[in-house]
Amino acid sequence: MPDFAEPLARLILEIKRLPGIGPKGARRIAHFLLVAPEAEAAGLSKALLEAREKTRACSVCHALTEEDPCALCSDPARDGSLLAVVEEPFDVEVLERTREFRGRYHVLGGALAPLRGIGPDDLHVAGLLERVASGVTEVVLATNPNVEGEATALYLARRLKPLGVRVTRLAFGLPVGAAIEFADEVTLSRSLSGRREV
Ligand code: ZN
Repeated sequence: MPDFAEPLARLILEIKRLPGIGPKGARRIAHFLLVAPEAEAAGLSKALLEAREKTRACSVCHALTEEDPCALCSDPARDGSLLAVVEEPFDVEVLERTREFRGRYHVLGGALAPLRGIGPDDLHVAGLLERVASGVTEVVLATNPNVEGEATALYLARRLKPLGVRVTRLAFGLPVGAAIEFADEVTLSRSLSGRREV
């Protein structure tokens, strides 16, 4: 590739790293950004930097927030006895869109993956057990319906049940091997309301 195209190649490479974007999509976005008015491209990079600067993890639930604790943790109208455990901060947004869940959340920061060396100490498990010990009556395990998510749910159920708390798992409708973030709202709503004891 000639020299003049090197910045473009680098831009494409960076965009390709974003989730859900293949090589073709990355090239289209890169070219779009390069021919867009300067102000538009500058607005995008400013929004990105600003969002990164102003957003942090909630010290209670580990969801992304501007305020700490986050709005979900500090909202007195939410049911503090009901806790949904999810893998990533993005999953909180996905579940919130269903408007079905009125409890609070706990973000693990991933799933157990022994083959990749990710164990319970690498996730926010200790904090979860602490929260459950103080007034939680039901924990909904909303980890992804894939191998790692199921293993994580099983592990957590084993740790949580001795604490005398009701442990449930998202029910039907979610295809095996999928991720919660790709489920539509209706499926996720059903999956929440039909959750079953584990
Ligand atoms: Zn929070």
